[in-house]
Amino acid sequence: MLKIYNTLSRTKEEFKPLDEKCVRMYSCGPTVYNYAHIGNMRTYVFMDIFRRILKYDGYKIKGVMNITDVGHLLSDGDDGEDKMEKASREQKKTPMEIAEFYTKVFFEDLAKLNIGRPEIIAKATDHIEDMEKYVQALVEKGYGYEIDDGIYFDISKFPEYGKLSRLNLEDQQAGARVEVNSQKKGPYDFALWKKAEPNHIMQWPSPWGMGYPGWHIECSTMSRKYLGDVFDIHTGGVDHIPVHHENEIAQSEALVGKKTVNYWVHGEFMLVNNGKMSKSLGNTYTISQLNDMGYAPVIFRYFCLNAHYRKKLNFTFDGMDAAKVSYARLLSSLYQHKMSQQATAPEVIEKYKKDFEDAINDDLNVPLALGVLWSMLKEPKSKDIFNLALEFDKVLGLNLKDAKEDLAEANKDIPEDILALAEERLQAKKNKDYAKADALRNEVKEKGYSILDSKDGYKVVKD
Ligand code: AMP
Ligand code: ZN
Repeated sequence: MLKIYNTLSRTKEEFKPLDEKCVRMYSCGPTVYNYAHIGNMRTYVFMDIFRRILKYDGYKIKGVMNITDVGHLLSDGDDGEDKMEKASREQKKTPMEIAEFYTKVFFEDLAKLNIGRPEIIAKATDHIEDMEKYVQALVEKGYGYEIDDGIYFDISKFPEYGKLSRLNLEDQQAGARVEVNSQKKGPYDFALWKKAEPNHIMQWPSPWGMGYPGWHIECSTMSRKYLGDVFDIHTGGVDHIPVHHENEIAQSEALVGKKTVNYWVHGEFMLVNNGKMSKSLGNTYTISQLNDMGYAPVIFRYFCLNAHYRKKLNFTFDGMDAAKVSYARLLSSLYQHKMSQQATAPEVIEKYKKDFEDAINDDLNVPLALGVLWSMLKEPKSKDIFNLALEFDKVLGLNLKDAKEDLAEANKDIPEDILALAEERLQAKKNKDYAKADALRNEVKEKGYSILDSKDGYKVVKD
């Protein structure tokens, strides 16, 4: 039985889907105005792990992810320029070109990280009419009101506002941290729809003149459209708890008249050198940049999986180097199991399987599940263990079928001069100088060693 930590109740709860067979899940997707950075990617690795565990547990999933290509302002609230418009101005491209380019790169990055694509990808600009209808319905129900610059949600009509982040509005209002728009009825009222200035690039006709949707209404509209009034799971990063998801709850529950999401699940942040990741600090690495620096995407995935999704994860290159070494060891140990002809007692296999399943079903405890994998690899070499590891990899997504020998490790006790000859032979072979290659092989043989070729290089063994 899967248990999952629900941000709403602040407790681990038993997971019971509305429909026993198919889990309905919504995940906040990227705002496609720039390259997604490794922090964003950590959140999608978490989403992927969650989806894989549900599938491992036998569920089908109807997952929706939005692509935000309008309405996300620089502040996450109602202030600042639209991120898409800013990028469009700076890069001298239309917002649509910007969105297309970064959406494509985003999905390429997901694929490199073995992150499965949710079943439905919903682009905000394809749903403008749906959003307008949603806003109109809120206005008709008395939750929305019009002022000069847009339509706003009246949070005084929704007393439960703040329940996800346990925000105490009275304390906050006393602190007056929220900029007050003089026409707004309350400082926490937020925009459902914004009226556009004539020079605003993205604008659509609406009952309130030309304008564009607020960011939060996108998720309420698209989740309801594809998943219905009430669905099982909503995911996102922890930064979304206080504004974006609080506003989503207000809109959705106001419209539908009841609780619309049963489990709110949030992934913690990735830090860089224990601090914030930001463009101005130059530490917002992308998956491609890491790859160019010698860290394959799977290493980043492995790095992420070593921390629980509800713990902050500090990104450092030392950490990545350690992940690289550890991952090579993992593959090399698996390789020895793969090559073995021995079997393991079924009860031993069952025990590891159960331990693994208990770990993943305890609030997606993947670090603990990796611990089970490592313990299992210490057992006497056996093909059964390799096969069970492949089963685990349905959840881990670490390309474990690529198990291969760690040649550097295998060759570590071979004298330097012998390795130099073996290396020279490999080069001769690459240059198709087979006579030289054979001569070098014989020379090594005379010194008492044999060269064993493999697809990744060679291993030298003492005769
Ligand atoms: P955005 O494109 O800004 O809407 O962000 C996409 C996703 O990445 C959201 O779910 C954010 O919560 C998440 N996110 C942003 N920064 C980080 C970070 N440093 N660590 C983890 N997740 C992040
Ligand atoms: Zn969202």
